[in-house]
Amino acid sequence: MVTDARELQPGTRLQTDVCIVGAGPAGITLALELSKAGVGVLLVESGGFETDQATTDLNVGDVVGEPYFDLVASRLRLFGGTTGHWEGMCRPLDELDFEQRSWIDKSGWPLGRGDLEPFYVRAQEYCQLGEFDYSYATWAPRVDITPFELPDDQLISEVYQFSPPTRFGEVYRDSVTKGAGIELLLWANLVDIVLADDGSHVRELACRTTTGVDVTVEPKRVVLALGAIENARLMLASTGIASAGVGNANGLVGKYFMEHPHQVPAGFLLVSRSESEMGAIPHQVGATAANGRDVRVVSCMRPTDAFQRTEEIGNAGLVLSQLRLDGEESADPGVLKGLYTDGLSATTMQAILPGSDVTVWSVDIRSEQVPNASSTITLTDELDGVGVPRVAMDWQRAEIDDKTVTVMLAAAARAFGGGGAGRIWAPSPDMALPPSPPGGGFHHMGTTRMAGSAQDGVVDSDCKVFGLGNCWVAGSSVFPTGGFANPTLSIVALAVRLAEHLAK
Ligand SMILES: Cc1cc2nc3c(=O)[nH]c(=O)nc-3n(C[C@H](O)[C@H](O)[C@H](O)COP(=O)(O)OP(=O)(O)OC[C@H]3O[C@@H](n4cnc5c(N)ncnc54)[C@H](O)[C@@H]3O)c2cc1C
Repeated sequence: MVTDARELQPGTRLQTDVCIVGAGPAGITLALELSKAGVGVLLVESGGFETDQATTDLNVGDVVGEPYFDLVASRLRLFGGTTGHWEGMCRPLDELDFEQRSWIDKSGWPLGRGDLEPFYVRAQEYCQLGEFDYSYATWAPRVDITPFELPDDQLISEVYQFSPPTRFGEVYRDSVTKGAGIELLLWANLVDIVLADDGSHVRELACRTTTGVDVTVEPKRVVLALGAIENARLMLASTGIASAGVGNANGLVGKYFMEHPHQVPAGFLLVSRSESEMGAIPHQVGATAANGRDVRVVSCMRPTDAFQRTEEIGNAGLVLSQLRLDGEESADPGVLKGLYTDGLSATTMQAILPGSDVTVWSVDIRSEQVPNASSTITLTDELDGVGVPRVAMDWQRAEIDDKTVTVMLAAAARAFGGGGAGRIWAPSPDMALPPSPPGGGFHHMGTTRMAGSAQDGVVDSDCKVFGLGNCWVAGSSVFPTGGFANPTLSIVALAVRLAEHLAK
C-alpha cells in the first residue's frame, strides 16, 4: 500500500511494528526481507517515485574540508535512493578489512567476513550479479584469457562484478508496493527522533512534508536507513531528550566520516603492442556467471594481506582502463584524463600519439581511507525547508591514505615492468601523488560506526544503537572501516542480516 503524506490530515498518527526510514537499497532490502518473514513494516521515504526540487534541496550542505562533490549531486532523495545514480561496481569487503590491524587506529569490526558471507550471497541477487565469487581464477577462463602471472606476492588479481546497475526504485517498486505487510509512506521527511523521557528508547518519529503536513509515527522498532550523511544528521539534530543527540553520549555520531579516495589516474601504463603480454589481462569483460546471468566483470589488483602488513598500508584496488587515442581527438593531450599531461615528456607524448606502437592505460587506484576522528559531519546553524539543521562535511584524510596509493603504484610498476607487460609512468620518480587531492567515489561511510562497546562506536554488531532499546541503523554509516570495495553490496548484505535479526 502506498500513501502520499502530503494528502494526510495534519497531525495524523501512524502505528507500526517496524518503521524503516529511508527507501534506498538498505531500506528497500530490509523491507522486502521483513515482509518475507511476516513482519509488518512502515517504510517512510522523503521523496516520491520521481524527484522534486523542494525535496532535493533538503540535501544541500556545506563542504568545508578537502574538496568534495556537491552534497546534492552525491545523493538522491527519492524512492530507490542513490541507486538512481550508482554505476553498479560491486565487490565484498576482504577478510583483512574486518580485522583489527595494529597499524590502523580504530580498525576492526566486531564481526568477521565469515559472519557476512551468507548474506553477501543473498545480496548478489538483490544487486542482480553473478554468483558470490570474486576470484580471478573463476572468471578468467570464462572469457578465455590466460592469466597474467604476477611476478611476486605483493599483489593479487581479483575482479569487480558490475550490477546492470540495479535501480532499486524501479526494479523493486512492485515488490514493495504489493509486498505483504509493507506500507510505503512517500513524501514524508523524518525531522525528529523523539525519545522516551528516560532516554531508553525511541517513542515516536516526527515527520514533515515539504508542504507543511506533520505526521507522527509510533513504532515499536525503528531502523534509520537515510544514507551515511543523513543518518548522522538526524541523530545529531534530535536533541529533545538527549542533548548531544540520539546515540551520541560519547560524541561519536558524525565522526570518522570516510570515503574511498579515487586516484584516477594514479599514473599511466605505456604498453608496446608488439612486445607486451598485456592481452593476457582481462580489463573489462563480459562473462556468463554460473547462475546464468551475463555479468560485466573488471579485473583489479589489490595488495596481498602480507604486503599490507609489512608495508603498514590500507587496502586498495587498481584497475586499468585503456585510453582511446586513435581518432581525431587523440592528437589533443587533453584526452588523457587526469592531471599529468603537462608533466609528460615530449618523448612520451610522441610515443602515445596515433600511429605509434604504444597503447596507454590509465592506472586507476581506489583506496581505503583509514578512520580519522577529524573527518566529520556536523550540523550548521542553517535550517532546511522542513526545519532540520543542514550539515557541514569536513572530509579529512591522513598520511597513511596517501602512502597506501604510492606503495600500491610502486608495486604495480614492479609487477608490470618485471612481468613484461609495460612501463608505468608516474608523476614523479618516487611515485609521489600530484598536488591536487583525489576525489572520492560518492561513498559515504563511518558516521555511526559499529564497535564492540559504546566507547568505540555508535552501534553494536547487530547495528543496534548502544543505549537504545528499539533503534537500529542500516547503511554504510555503520562501517568502522571501509576497505576499498564500493559499499553498496555490503550495505545490502548487512540489511539482509539485520532483517534476519529483527525477524527473530
Ligand atoms: C554517481 C554515483 C555513483 C555511485 N556508484 C556506485 C558504485 O558503482 N558502487 C557502489 O557500491 N556504490 C556506488 N554509489 C554509492 C551508492 O549509491 C550508495 O552506497 C547507496 O545508494 C547507499 O544506500 P543507502 O540505502 O544507504 O542510502 P541512499 O541510497 O542514499 O538512500 C537513502 C534514502 O533515504 C531517504 N531519506 C534521506 N533523508 C530522509 C529523511 N529525513 N526522511 C525520510 N527519508 C529520507 C532518501 O530520500 C533516500 O531514498 C554511487 C553513488 C553515486 C552518487
